Amino acid sequence: MLPYGRQTVTEEDIEAVAAVLRTDWLTTGPQVEGFEADLAKWTGGVGCASVSNGTAALHVAYAAAGVGPGDEVIVPPMTFVATASSAALLGAKIVFADVEEETFTLDPAAAAAATTSRTKVVSAVDYAGHPADYDALRAALRGSDALLLADAAHSIGATYRGRPVGTLADLTTFSFFPTKHLTTGEGGAVAAPDPGLLERARRFRNIGLVRDRAEQRWPDEGGWHQEVHEFGLNYRLPDVLCALGRAQLRRLDAFLARRAELVARYDEALAGLDGVLTPGRRSWAEPAWHLYPIRVLDGRRREVYDAMRAAGIGVQVNYIPVHWHPAFADLGYRRGSCPVAESFYTQQLSLPLYPTLSDADQDRVIDALGAALRGRPASAVA
Ligand SMILES: *Cc1c(COP(=O)(O)O)cnc(C)c1O
Repeated sequence: MLPYGRQTVTEEDIEAVAAVLRTDWLTTGPQVEGFEADLAKWTGGVGCASVSNGTAALHVAYAAAGVGPGDEVIVPPMTFVATASSAALLGAKIVFADVEEETFTLDPAAAAAATTSRTKVVSAVDYAGHPADYDALRAALRGSDALLLADAAHSIGATYRGRPVGTLADLTTFSFFPTKHLTTGEGGAVAAPDPGLLERARRFRNIGLVRDRAEQRWPDEGGWHQEVHEFGLNYRLPDVLCALGRAQLRRLDAFLARRAELVARYDEALAGLDGVLTPGRRSWAEPAWHLYPIRVLDGRRREVYDAMRAAGIGVQVNYIPVHWHPAFADLGYRRGSCPVAESFYTQQLSLPLYPTLSDADQDRVIDALGAALRGRPASAVA
């Protein structure tokens, strides 16, 4: 089965990890700082805190923003559930706001309509690697104290009006899961231009421990002393995995370039195919394509999904609208509240996209899609 996404791990990566295993550091050591500094080169110099996964990055970011009971957090439903569930765990009420046609990122008008005096954070998601419309979102939030968060699990390396992802929001979160643009096995990061927010993120990631004597309540307790002022969790990304991340970052340009090449080939091959629509792109965006999300028309998504799976093509659906999950349904969230996202979901299909996908394998995906649309079984792919 051709997967819809997969990691690219080379001997260089393996060497980088092995080298750290031979040192005294397994967890927090020099690779952590090194990885965070290397990451900041991709976020326009905005400071980054590495964490143990992308879900942890969201949890850390919401905690740093001070999200708690009584607060509202606005989230688009076209995302992975963690964008919403991590804020719900902190006691916030999630308010779903619909997405725009064409990019399926948070609609600034819907976000504005959903904003109240209790809105603490508005979370945009760079769906498939296409940046949300950040200037319009900022304008929509004028007059509100809400922070803007970018879930950039799909979009490291993308730019919006020439500005890199990481500089576009008050808090930006990344995931380094194997299918994403770079991997540390499990891993993630939070970027924040405001040093105070970044420090709160770092502290939550490290159990809330305060080690700086200048900030301690009882600094004269002794050399061993550390204090917790606000609860946190252990979300540290170990040195070993940061070394993998640094090696991966050295090839991120090449990964993104190959993905862009594959996207251009898909765009061209599928342009004339009846029954499907290719992903939209706004003139102000330079996306970093993580997914290649097509739309299958005429109610045939399920049939095309099954046919392609049967042909050995690992297509995927990204995503079930978050408010459809039973955990949200049980809280009273209803289907039909976000019609653009929900209609998109019924058509959406992600085609295989990853840097080592060969032209020949991509051609088989294209052929299998054509065959599925013609209602004929494609020959199986090994
Ligand atoms: C992958 C992903 C996450 C969660 O990241 P993990 O590293 O898997 O925890 C969050 N949001 C989006 C949009 C994602 O794609």
